[in-house]
Amino acid sequence: MAHFIPEPYRIKMVEPIKMTTREQREQYIREAEYNLFRLRGEDVYVDTLTDSGTNAMSDAQWAALMLGDEAYAGGKSYFKLVEAAKDVFGYGYIQPVHQGRAAEKVLFPSFLEKGKYAIANLFFDTTRAHVELAGARCLECCNPEAADSQLRAPFKGNMDVAKMEEMIKEKGPENIGMVVMTITNNSAGGQPVSLKNMREVASVCQKYQIHLNIDAARYAENAMFVKMREPECKDMSIKEIIHAFFDLADTFTMSAKKDTIVNMGGLIGVKDENAPYILNIKANCISYEGFYSYGGLNGRDLECLAVGLYEGLDESWLRYRIGTMEYFGERLDELEIPYQSPPGGHGIFLDAAKFYPQLPYHEFPGQVLAVELYKECGLRSCDIGSYMIGNDPDTGEQLKSINEFTRLAIPRRVYTQSHYDMVIEAIHEVWKRRESINHGYKITWEPPILRHFQASLAPIE
Ligand SMILES: *Cc1c(COP(=O)(O)O)cnc(C)c1O
Repeated sequence: MAHFIPEPYRIKMVEPIKMTTREQREQYIREAEYNLFRLRGEDVYVDTLTDSGTNAMSDAQWAALMLGDEAYAGGKSYFKLVEAAKDVFGYGYIQPVHQGRAAEKVLFPSFLEKGKYAIANLFFDTTRAHVELAGARCLECCNPEAADSQLRAPFKGNMDVAKMEEMIKEKGPENIGMVVMTITNNSAGGQPVSLKNMREVASVCQKYQIHLNIDAARYAENAMFVKMREPECKDMSIKEIIHAFFDLADTFTMSAKKDTIVNMGGLIGVKDENAPYILNIKANCISYEGFYSYGGLNGRDLECLAVGLYEGLDESWLRYRIGTMEYFGERLDELEIPYQSPPGGHGIFLDAAKFYPQLPYHEFPGQVLAVELYKECGLRSCDIGSYMIGNDPDTGEQLKSINEFTRLAIPRRVYTQSHYDMVIEAIHEVWKRRESINHGYKITWEPPILRHFQASLAPIE
């Protein structure tokens, strides 16, 4: 039987959630034009739209909030954050920003422009958008194991290093603005990257003198997986594993809304405190985010972030976090429901293409499954597939994703085992009637970039 690792915390404050009927939910999703981002949060029972910024802060973080120094420049909270981040990542320069995409916006123009490429083990959606907004183009070299949801490999988030080197030679090393290692690999289902793979990527980057950036949103979950699965790291602390990874890169961009367990924040890190592009980082930060000692955040946010950086490294927390996903996976295995297995660190990625093989990618099976789950139990999830990937920026043609996933991203420290059990039962109900779905969705309106957040959809009759 599936085993649940109990929560390493207890509840001190509660937030009521609304119960809705199926009739209400059918009306709400119709009014939202079948886009789950356009639902009202209060009409959702269990919200797994994202694990980003949806975390519950600890008593220590709420206490730290009161210490926030709101000085415009050089506040105490800024120095506290910088000291904590230098300690956790071992980097020489730390720039706070308001979230992960701001880190991308501020850093990427130093390395990317028209005619250049960025290569990743898979890009997160905003990261792809900021590569393109800088004028460059994205190339992806994900380990082919990630495309097989039924293959139980330990490091499905890895870069395909041979393919990466081929691409570098094909485009010319001088045209590769940067390599991005996304740890864990969000778009592959929160799958981890091994230290061995990171070393191989770094050595190819060194050989061709290419800048290596870590997209570090889930650095702590990745480190826990490495500790559990990579024998050479089993006796290392989480912090030692993080240092081993970050020592291999030049910079990182980070959404602190994930593993740092806060609601808002981001960081840029530069290993070399004398790197000349730090001047660009500061200049862009001042133009877009705010002065470099607050980067678009409140002083109190910087305090909470500093505490969260350490709470995120706690091994009993990380074991519970990954244990929750394993429990979810074991229950789905018992019901023979397909998902990206083994489960990643921050959620369950249901294999919607296997729920609905009758639907083509341009009818968005991942979106179909997300809508069905909302109607079934008030669960909010999202498509991580062709609907999310969108259109080719040059031809406007709908791209075909390597996977059609429906992602349940689990907020940190928010829900309990009985919420997860309710969700698993609802997934089972939707699975049982999967053959009754004959049509997907068409897009009736879409913006040119990051369309999935705003687009309107309609059922294909
Ligand atoms: C969330 C995320 C981002 C973007 O961060 P935001 O805080 O949402 O702006 C970038 N990369 C990865 C891998 C992420 O998970």
